[in-house]
Amino acid sequence: MDASPPPSVLPTGVDPAELRLRLSAWYHTRARRLPWRDQPTPYRVWVSEIMLQQTQVATVLPYFERFVAALPDIESLARADEPTVLGLWAGLGYYRRARFLHRAAREVVARHGGRLPASATDLRALPGVGAYTAAAIASVAFGLPEAVVDGNVIRVLSRLVALPQLTDTAPGQRALQAVADALLDRSDPSSHNQAMMELGALVCSPRGPDCATCPLSPSCAARAAGTQERYPRKRARTPPQKVRACCGLATDEAGRLLMARRPAGVLLGGLWELPGGELTPETSPQRSLQAHLHERLGLDAEIGRRLGVVEHVFSHRHLTLDIYAVPAARGALTPAWYDECAFLDAADRARVPRSRLTDKVLEAVGHG
Ligand code: SF4
Repeated sequence: MDASPPPSVLPTGVDPAELRLRLSAWYHTRARRLPWRDQPTPYRVWVSEIMLQQTQVATVLPYFERFVAALPDIESLARADEPTVLGLWAGLGYYRRARFLHRAAREVVARHGGRLPASATDLRALPGVGAYTAAAIASVAFGLPEAVVDGNVIRVLSRLVALPQLTDTAPGQRALQAVADALLDRSDPSSHNQAMMELGALVCSPRGPDCATCPLSPSCAARAAGTQERYPRKRARTPPQKVRACCGLATDEAGRLLMARRPAGVLLGGLWELPGGELTPETSPQRSLQAHLHERLGLDAEIGRRLGVVEHVFSHRHLTLDIYAVPAARGALTPAWYDECAFLDAADRARVPRSRLTDKVLEAVGHG
């Protein structure tokens, strides 16, 4: 007996059973071979899902291999110290994910005997595991009938049914989940969910979807109307707040760069950067930088010429960061606002966790 919910959320004439069959046939011929698919243990699926939040598959692959080689299971991750975990994450960005993963591993050891719980509800109680990640782990690692709705799936589903709701609102998310639940292949939720995500990644792209090769094409409402790129519908975005900041490039006699670790609890906390800070209103960038170096590191510095400028967009902020040479500095390094600081050579810089912003800064001054 088919235990699917009634397919009333699907457009008239769309047969979910037929759609599942077409999707499954496509997936089994087109799916990419990925290390977490080849060995889908709960731990590997979990690590891959956390890394894939906000990051492309191609970028994640080498980080994933390195991470699971160094920390092959939940116990070894729980035992590792934070610098080790952040070091393995260095360069992947969004370090909050690594901290959550680490904290969650310790919770799994303390509360679940070192095994990830086989329930979407219990998975959601772990740090860093939201509805999407819980459904992905539950279905892919444990075969549970949980329909995944990630960014790729949102695109496919909203086009398939020409979803009128805004997908970044609660009613839109409920409508998407209802469509995903109605389509879910409960006999093989793991392959079904991965097929939906893969279809969004490879075929149903944001611009110019390849509808001619899409297995859902005969049932797709947006394709029939020629309105694919109008979906998913979203709320109008508020423009990011403009922020200006400055940082200093100081070197020691060995040519190593002065870098400092930001305190926990602030934006990009725990990550290393060239020292500096936001511009104080009505103060020149040089004066602001001098004040930051004094207050945050105990340095009395001369500020030299401007070496470059970097633009970076966080979710709600557009940062313009000026980089200045710091040719001479007096005073012992005494980190006050920063947690620590050090002169780092290229090998050390590669080992410490850095944000994408700091990578851009280092590239701009020829130390990338
Ligand atoms: S037919 Fe085109 S728009 Fe519709 S789901 Fe397939 S790729 Fe996306």
